Amino acid sequence: MGERIEVLVPEEEVNARIRALGEQISRDYAGKQIHLVCVLKGGSFFMCELAKRITVPVSLDFMSVSSYGGETKSSGVVRIVKDLDEPIQDKEVLIVEDIVDSGRTLSYLMEMLRDRKPKSLRLCTLLDKPDRRVVPVEVNYTGFQIPDAFVVGYGLDYDQRYRNLPYIGVVRFD
Ligand code: 5GP
Repeated sequence: MGERIEVLVPEEEVNARIRALGEQISRDYAGKQIHLVCVLKGGSFFMCELAKRITVPVSLDFMSVSSYGGETKSSGVVRIVKDLDEPIQDKEVLIVEDIVDSGRTLSYLMEMLRDRKPKSLRLCTLLDKPDRRVVPVEVNYTGFQIPDAFVVGYGLDYDQRYRNLPYIGVVRFD
């Protein structure tokens, strides 16, 4: 079975949207320092580009939770593979995610991080698939709302491949 990638959001559009998000976040956090928490591995490309567009002081940390593996359906199981290096108490935490799908991962993560008493806790996702939501999640910043399709690129993988595509694409099987 062949595999091809159909462009859903071209590179220029992704970059322009990230620039706009960076400006909006910089305005919203004026006078504050933001602690960006990147959810690996998918959030890494977005986090780097976004951080470069934020003009207020920024610190970074990373965490990793279990996700899909080689499949395209959510297992509903969320496991912390790598926890944050630093405490987040009293920090203005902004979680940076690649995509919110069922909402299971993010709702679990946000609850866990809220227990650590950050000063504020917000969520920024590059992509959102609202039609797929099973668990409600408050998303504060969204790059693009997309239809229900399995997407790759800009950090998102299919079986660990395609993360490095500079655009968002849909995997088609011929
Ligand atoms: P949720 O818990 O919201 O169902 O899923 C979140 C995680 O599932 C994301 O961080 C991502 O790893 C994975 N995921 C959900 N939808 C997609 C998709 O369309 N493409 C890829 N590559 N991963 C997805």
